[in-house]
Amino acid sequence: MVTNKNFEVIIIGGSYAGLSAAMALGRSLRKVLVIDSGKPCNRQTPHSHNFLTQDGSAPKEIATIAKQQVEKYNTISFLKDLAINGRKIPEGFKIETENGKIFTAKKLIFATGVKDMIPDIKGFSECWGISVIHCPYCHGYEHKAAKTAIMANGERAFHLASLVNNLTHDLTILTNGKMGFNETQLKKLKEHSIEIIEKEILGTEHHKGQIEKIVFKDGSKENFLASYAAIPFEQHSSLPKTLGCELTEQGHIKVDFFQQTSVNGVFACGDNASPMRSVAYAVATGNIAGAMVNKTLTDEQF
Ligand SMILES: Cc1cc2nc3c(=O)[nH]c(=O)nc-3n(C[C@H](O)[C@H](O)[C@H](O)COP(=O)(O)OP(=O)(O)OC[C@H]3O[C@@H](n4cnc5c(N)ncnc54)[C@H](O)[C@@H]3O)c2cc1C
Repeated sequence: MVTNKNFEVIIIGGSYAGLSAAMALGRSLRKVLVIDSGKPCNRQTPHSHNFLTQDGSAPKEIATIAKQQVEKYNTISFLKDLAINGRKIPEGFKIETENGKIFTAKKLIFATGVKDMIPDIKGFSECWGISVIHCPYCHGYEHKAAKTAIMANGERAFHLASLVNNLTHDLTILTNGKMGFNETQLKKLKEHSIEIIEKEILGTEHHKGQIEKIVFKDGSKENFLASYAAIPFEQHSSLPKTLGCELTEQGHIKVDFFQQTSVNGVFACGDNASPMRSVAYAVATGNIAGAMVNKTLTDEQF
């Protein structure tokens, strides 16, 4: 149970980025509260890849080990709750949670991640992270040489196709409507024998998330064993914006090299502040945010 009300740092989001920031701060004896609502974006994927020492582990397993290691630092407190309100006060920041708890801190770290906006395609949600994948580095190797679709259009589809082409030569782009490629892109796609289907997508046929067919609105179907999808996202938490943090055009929190946002005393790390979505990047930027918050506190106190 969390009895303290006032902390040096509150970290909102206690997944990879948040726990990494907490570790750096705990090792500097900072009094920290980590508030986490327990909904990391990769929770449906059975195996996480491309993170050294944990390649192929379940996402939850990586987070559990991380939390156990951070728990050893007894200046860190954890709260399972949702931060719903935040405002600036003279001493720093006041944060309110869904369960009616109120805490203050001198500094804030947002490690809140992003929310993928699942399209209205039947079966898409069930396959997300299993056989419908967001990133070739995370799951491409496991689907190498498979008959693969790319559900995307224009630049995003072209970029994905160029990356995935090295993993499989059986590649089809599904633009779900009129294609948006320029002449040069079309020529390149043709050169690599990448087919383009413009038919609108109705849904997927799958077994426990393993895609078998993509069904089009005209009733036709195509067999696939995997599909990439470039889908939109939104900030998982609206609090950074409420507190005045500027966002980039793409919708990420604007941060400098040290993870400082546009609001003094507020830092952000992980997916919410970068398009480079990976566990490794979340851990790296969390580590930087933790160290920089500690440095800022030290500069103010020493
Ligand atoms: C389907 C899928 C599969 C993936 N597979 C891989 C992979 O194989 N390898 C890899 O390296 N990367 C993978 N990724 C990317 C990786 O999961 C992310 O880069 C990583 O989870 C980002 O960590 P994070 O801590 O920034 O955010 P998240 O892990 O998304 O965690 C954010 C946390 O903040 C909490 N939160 C949000 N708002 C609040 C609030 N207001 N109050 C309290 N808590 C809050 C959430 O509940 C959540 O626990 C995958 C992503 C997806 C979507």
